[in-house]
Amino acid sequence: MSFTDGKPFTATEAQCKGPWLGRPNGELFRCFLCGHKFEPGDVVRWQYTNDVSGAGGIPLVCEKCDGPKEVIVEEMREGYAAVRGRYWYFARALANEAGIVAALEAEERNR
Ligand SMILES: [Zn+2]
Repeated sequence: MSFTDGKPFTATEAQCKGPWLGRPNGELFRCFLCGHKFEPGDVVRWQYTNDVSGAGGIPLVCEKCDGPKEVIVEEMREGYAAVRGRYWYFARALANEAGIVAALEAEERNR
């Protein structure tokens, strides 16, 4: 199990209850594509995408959503586009909830 080896692993109870992305209790131990919250025994995989422009991050994917890298990258790009476009308000509301609006605004100004 690593961020870069691309090999599936089986979720453990400790992982499902552990901190992910700065949140406790496995709250964000979820599939990046469908939102499924992983449970012990689920098959999970990291898809390395930091080497692809516009698809940053290393999404966790569930067994159901897993597939070729190109398909996962395209879904990530579509998700980012939807959040920055159609769902901009929700992105802002969630960012505000997390206290990172100032960082997003600075990012916008620097584009
Ligand atoms: Zn999924």
